[in-house]
Amino acid sequence: MKKLIVCLLILFSTVAASAASNPKVLAFYAVNVEPDHSRFAQDAIRFFTAHARQDHYTFVPTTNWDDLNDANLAGCAVVIWLNDEPHTPQQEQAFQKYMTNGGAWLGFHAVGYTEKKTDWPWYQSFLGGIWDNNSWPPIPADLVISDPNHPVTRGLPHSFESPANEWYSWDPNPAANKKVKVLVTLAPSNFPIGLKDVLTSGTIPVVWTNTQYKMLYINMGHGDKIFTSPIQNRLIENGLLWLLSER
Ligand code: ZN
Repeated sequence: MKKLIVCLLILFSTVAASAASNPKVLAFYAVNVEPDHSRFAQDAIRFFTAHARQDHYTFVPTTNWDDLNDANLAGCAVVIWLNDEPHTPQQEQAFQKYMTNGGAWLGFHAVGYTEKKTDWPWYQSFLGGIWDNNSWPPIPADLVISDPNHPVTRGLPHSFESPANEWYSWDPNPAANKKVKVLVTLAPSNFPIGLKDVLTSGTIPVVWTNTQYKMLYINMGHGDKIFTSPIQNRLIENGLLWLLSER
């Protein structure tokens, strides 16, 4: 009996130690935003929670943006923004400091709505482009992989249908930004895309990284269909694993 207890203690302490040593992924979201943006956030939290054990990270979702501070960020491997962004200059400055000192970030959909961020020009430059327009209503789209050799897109087919989403266009366009590496774009065959609001042409990137930072922006994130594509799910999981591996 004593042996069994000792074995169990060793087992529990091993499990606890491995959980404690897993990198921390801190995800910020909000419940008081556009309902389809909140729905996506809830789905994303379920998705990352489900993958945390097999991918060996600790996933911590929070609506408390005051957690975006120096002390907290010091212990974070990756910060995720799910359709919401900092609410105060203090939170913005903590994030800016974290990223310029080698932190990692994964941002979805509405966090690319940079037009209103004129009081925080660093963030516009960090993202690599400025929101210009969107398609409406949400609709599926064919996407094309721009770089099949990048860890985020590796193993994915050259093109795939992405579930219904509100698609953004950009001006300045990240595709014209020398610091940006575009990984996925809207296929030209989609145009015109939308009914009320229409995107008609151009190279429209939907997944990219600003190579000056450990960051990845993913335009998908509107509504409750985003995680219905196994191919796209792999892209999203690849994205987080890449940021974790870049530490
Ligand atoms: Zn949206």
